[in-house]
Amino acid sequence: MTHDADVIVVGAGPVGLLLAAELRLAGATPLVLEKLAAPSPQHKARSVGPLAAEALVRRGLGERLAAHGGAGAADKARDHGSEKGHFSSIFKLDQALQEEPERQSVYIWQPDLEALLGAYASGLGVEVRREHTVTGLVQDADGVTVTVAVPQGEQRLRAAYAVGCDGGRSTVRRLTEFAFPGTAPIMTARRAQAEILKGAEQLPPPGRQPRGILYYGNGMLATFDFFGDAPEERDAPLTAKELQDSVRRITGVDIEVAVTGETLRFGDHARQAATYRQGRVLLAGDAAHVHSPMGGQGLNLGLMDAVNLGWKLAAEVRGDAPPGLLDSYTAERHPAGARVLHNTRAQSALLAPGPHTDALRDVFSDLMDLPEVNRHLGRMLSGLGDTYDFPYPSTHSLTGRHCPDLTIRTGEREERLSDHTREGRPVLLTPDVRPAEAWRRRVELVQIDTLAYDGLDAVLVRPDGAIAWASGAGAGAGAGVAADSDAEERADEDLETALATWFSR
Ligand SMILES: Cc1cc2nc3c(=O)[nH]c(=O)nc-3n(C[C@H](O)[C@H](O)[C@H](O)COP(=O)(O)OP(=O)(O)OC[C@H]3O[C@@H](n4cnc5c(N)ncnc54)[C@H](O)[C@@H]3O)c2cc1C
Repeated sequence: MTHDADVIVVGAGPVGLLLAAELRLAGATPLVLEKLAAPSPQHKARSVGPLAAEALVRRGLGERLAAHGGAGAADKARDHGSEKGHFSSIFKLDQALQEEPERQSVYIWQPDLEALLGAYASGLGVEVRREHTVTGLVQDADGVTVTVAVPQGEQRLRAAYAVGCDGGRSTVRRLTEFAFPGTAPIMTARRAQAEILKGAEQLPPPGRQPRGILYYGNGMLATFDFFGDAPEERDAPLTAKELQDSVRRITGVDIEVAVTGETLRFGDHARQAATYRQGRVLLAGDAAHVHSPMGGQGLNLGLMDAVNLGWKLAAEVRGDAPPGLLDSYTAERHPAGARVLHNTRAQSALLAPGPHTDALRDVFSDLMDLPEVNRHLGRMLSGLGDTYDFPYPSTHSLTGRHCPDLTIRTGEREERLSDHTREGRPVLLTPDVRPAEAWRRRVELVQIDTLAYDGLDAVLVRPDGAIAWASGAGAGAGAGVAADSDAEERADEDLETALATWFSR
């Protein structure tokens, strides 16, 4: 059977769309299969975290992203009474206190983000086939065959690889029998646009209650319910009765509700695929990890999966990937996912009702007034502290971190890193490109005077924004510290090692 594409991407959510675009940029042909006839209108995420926002800026999407920023902040202030970030709904995370305050989340509602990514992917020539529900998948030595339910019946499509970007209840994950260990939910959240027809005057003020959490106002009603499970049929629509029952469990008050618009039900399952790759099948985004939305980390995690995987899988498809490149996807992204699961479990524990947790929250809230604690939590939720463990010695404190959108100075000219990353190629910014000349076909070599970043003279940035090599005063004990010729030679060797680890000539 001939191949219909290099890579079948299952799911046209934000992660699938960005992955397909990244594959296309790197020269592979993706085909995206999506079960829905039209993009989902559900207002799940209201922001993308700083790492994912920077990834989009690197692809030239910064202005389109920023166009949504202001409105999102206003929505947040309206819904939560604060524009600050939060840990477990303690709204005290102060952007001004963070180590790099300019690196921040960008507000954009998920349907707008999906529209933005859909337009970007289609502009690159990505094909998305809607009303294509993947129902079967088998892999062999040469490729993957997927069975797809379409309105006319059933189809079989084949590609060299398949990636499940099909969300938390991933069919690809189940069909490929990925182990998915983790913890069961301790609460069910319900949110609806709703009008309270009767009983509103008996309700306590919104917030924590002895048996859960209740929010209402501005035409919205939401509960965090620790005693009422979700229905067996998890896709069953959230009804007025289910909401009323939940409010009664939490407050003891009987109200009558009319659902007027969008409804949403979610839990705090925390599960993660044991590996993100089994042969020719891979997972990314919610398909690889599910956790509570507390702290708004899902897209930061999933979109960074997409940019980490895209260029690696494309190199594998092209046949010029260095050994082990594709497996570095799990090695780098699994720990990032595990950290998010860990902090969302902590946030769930701090949400649980009862006087002991109330006391713990008070203590925690006071701790958040300490700038160092505030920074610690900010680093944790943003992923900005994440450092990949590379298979060669680190020569600089920034190696393995994600690169901010650096300002580059050359003569009178000032540019940004993102002026050089739209094509998705790796970029070397350095005052002396000569040692890397042999890599010019594969790597964007940019001769610069200086970088506006303390302790950084030169940097090799992978297509996903990870710093593969750096030199400058921020360096550790290795190359780049001393200016003698031995040190320079060592720096050149270290650069060569980094280049050869990630790319082929
Ligand atoms: C209430 C709530 C608030 C949130 N807030 C935030 C936030 O502020 N910030 C943040 O970063 N994250 C937030 N999240 C998390 C974020 O919404 C998810 O992490 C994100 O949607 C994951 O994207 P994805 O592309 O991996 O999966 P999804 O968005 O679930 O997309 C999966 C796609 O696959 C399709 N699909 C499924 N099965 C098949 C199949 N068999 N065949 C073909 N197609 C299929 C689906 O139709 C869907 O389009 C929130 C989540 C919730 C529930």
